[in-house]
Amino acid sequence: LVRLRARLSRSQGALGKGLLTLLSRDRLDEDTWEEVEDTLLTADVGVAPTQELVERLRERVRVLGTRTPDELRTLLREELLALVDPTFDRMVHTETTGGEDRPGVVLVVGVNGTGKTTTTGKLARVLVADGKSVVLGAADTFRAAAADQLQTWGDRVGARTVRGPEGGDPASVAFDAVKEGTAAGADVVLVDTAGRLHTKSGLMDELGKVKRVVEKQGPVDEVLLVLDATTGQNGLVQARVFAEVVNITGIVLTKLDGTAKGGIVIAVQRELGVPVKLVGLGEGADDLAPFEAEAFVDALVE
Ligand code: GDP
Repeated sequence: LVRLRARLSRSQGALGKGLLTLLSRDRLDEDTWEEVEDTLLTADVGVAPTQELVERLRERVRVLGTRTPDELRTLLREELLALVDPTFDRMVHTETTGGEDRPGVVLVVGVNGTGKTTTTGKLARVLVADGKSVVLGAADTFRAAAADQLQTWGDRVGARTVRGPEGGDPASVAFDAVKEGTAAGADVVLVDTAGRLHTKSGLMDELGKVKRVVEKQGPVDEVLLVLDATTGQNGLVQARVFAEVVNITGIVLTKLDGTAKGGIVIAVQRELGVPVKLVGLGEGADDLAPFEAEAFVDALVE
């Protein structure tokens, strides 16, 4: 697993630098605070967290009086960290919570194009490298190349891929994957699901059914929602829809390498009340990192 810190600094520093420059002004007047607000909103921090942060910063800067650059950095770091919420449990739960003799089951959900299949493959690689035996379920039967793409990952990392006929029933592929995983004594089954969002009710029906059918064999241990960090507020809209259908237990924020708008981490956690657990930092097999709140904030204010 790559470390988050080393990979983030290049793109993410923009937010913190912008804020520190503004806060270093001799006079912090209304206009400056509005600029602070704009900077946060532009970085996708979201309206409510932005207002909260600005309020707290104003108060602390007022109490502080004169401010050295180091003091400002410390203050900003503390306030951002509070918003990113370092207290969340960010473990990806791949152990079965059912207690019985069956694999841990992870559903990977999200809109097509967000990086679902890639994330499933990367996660499989991490688990296999960790000594776990993994079965992949190619339940995205609608996107023509999705099953092939997942199988390529499976072959590469040494995980068996269970797939169905193209256009077949995603729920039945998911069911078979868990069944095969159980029969083979696998440790983890990762199910890549379809994410067509053109009709909300269609998604509800399909994803809801996948979950229900999988649960016939035991509980689902983790539901990871994959969101593309470059889509900003759109990602939040998607998150809301998915949260209505399934009980999201963790967020994977992909393509964080392609945006300086790291504020989406704050916005999406706030929106769903669910932690960001993993981040995607590129297209390669090693480009998945556990989300670390402190490392993330350090990269922002460096
Ligand atoms: P799916 O439709 O959600 O399964 O999406 P894919 O897994 O096929 O990914 C869509 C595109 O995004 C592919 O070209 C991936 O290589 C790319 N991608 C996925 N994750 C990341 C990431 O973290 N960073 C970057 N830069 N590209 C990514």
